[in-house]
Amino acid sequence: MKATILLFLATSAIILAACAPNQSPENQNSKPNLVIILTDDQGYADVGFNGCEDIPTPHIDRIAHEGVRFTNGYVTYPVCSPSRAGMITGRYQGRFGYRRNPTLNPWDENAGLPLEEENIAEILKKVGYHSGYVGKWHLGTHPKFRPNVRGFDEFYGFVAGGHRYFPEDLTYQTIEDVDRKGGWYNTKILRNERRVETDEYLTDEFSHEAVDFIVKNQDKPFFLFLSYNAPHTPMQASQKYLDRFAHIDDKLRRTYAAMVSAVDDGVGRVLDTLDQLELADDTLVFFLSDNGGASNNGSRNTPLRANKGTVYEGGMRVPFAFRWTGSIPSGIDYDNPVSSMDMLGTMAVLTGVEIASDRPLDGVNLIPYLNGSNPGQPHDVLFWQMFDKDHAVIRQGHDKLVDLNKENQTELYDLSNDKGESENLLSTNPKKADSLQEQLDQWTSQLEPARFDPLGTWNPPGPAE
Ligand code: CA
Repeated sequence: MKATILLFLATSAIILAACAPNQSPENQNSKPNLVIILTDDQGYADVGFNGCEDIPTPHIDRIAHEGVRFTNGYVTYPVCSPSRAGMITGRYQGRFGYRRNPTLNPWDENAGLPLEEENIAEILKKVGYHSGYVGKWHLGTHPKFRPNVRGFDEFYGFVAGGHRYFPEDLTYQTIEDVDRKGGWYNTKILRNERRVETDEYLTDEFSHEAVDFIVKNQDKPFFLFLSYNAPHTPMQASQKYLDRFAHIDDKLRRTYAAMVSAVDDGVGRVLDTLDQLELADDTLVFFLSDNGGASNNGSRNTPLRANKGTVYEGGMRVPFAFRWTGSIPSGIDYDNPVSSMDMLGTMAVLTGVEIASDRPLDGVNLIPYLNGSNPGQPHDVLFWQMFDKDHAVIRQGHDKLVDLNKENQTELYDLSNDKGESENLLSTNPKKADSLQEQLDQWTSQLEPARFDPLGTWNPPGPAE
């Protein structure tokens, strides 16, 4: 591994000396494209690059093989919407009261990403980027929170937290028309604020749209956020993908595999398009899931403990890879903890864009750590807190303290030899626990209370789905 980095450094030095300035990651005027590919509720173990055996993901794996696999890559919350709020702002979302999944009530003017918090599209717009959002939004359903007024020049997708996958199920014109609980999964797809009729399996729709966006915007600096709702429930796959997994007996796992396979095909189309347009060296590509695998979709987080909705590793450590050919090493593992917030942290430094001084980023630039120029850790500590459960976590190095305040229980794990969090070391290392607890309390004291009602509080009249 070290040899790979040294060889890379030597090669980089030659390239940097000889090449155009826009090839240099250190050049603050460079404007590489950015593609973030996000999946929904996909398990840590459900990609080939993390050892998955029953679901081939050759295209997703390309990102890791041609770039870096993060073995300790985290999101900032173990459910969908707060995780996205942290990712898209580069800041711990608890700092601005984004403490839970919001109500989907489209008349609620509080339930979304606060307007005063700049997101990655708004930030990159200042340095000339053209941004597109494809797929699941889930950062507010009220018109004031939607992608087109939050820095995205183009939007193709839906605003709620999940969706049905077949066009015939999309029966509501808009989310405002929904008259039964769960009906928000059945709205028509939006192109910007206009409803469109679709005719494909939803994952394929999103893949096609992503490719079109890249082709259309190939001549300017662009940012594409491709936010698949797969493999989130409802578990629906088209026959084309199900046919690939006839050998999987368990029906839930078979459908899940088909949904992941559809995403993988889409990732392949996106990467092929970048190749065909000769944009690969000019484009940062990130792949990750918005939280760990869920207990209801057939996903797996092995060897991590638990799943979505928990503060154990299975809730927040996700499949995460990053490719930027020619500018970061290829085919290596990076084992120090990194965060989804670092995607914006990296872009902020690469582009030299100014960040509001009263809202500093928690995400950092990963490039120096990946190319070996900084041997330290991107984050001395990482923190999490689940507001409604009153569960908080700190990770420092390999040590992880889990503070289950509601249950009056504290746990200490050494992740270097206990990835599965099976041995509570609290009684054997109380000093370490105290030090971590103190830092955790200091961090949680900086957070704001929840600013909106939780998911499930909007109850349109009519029977539940
Ligand atoms: Ca999710």
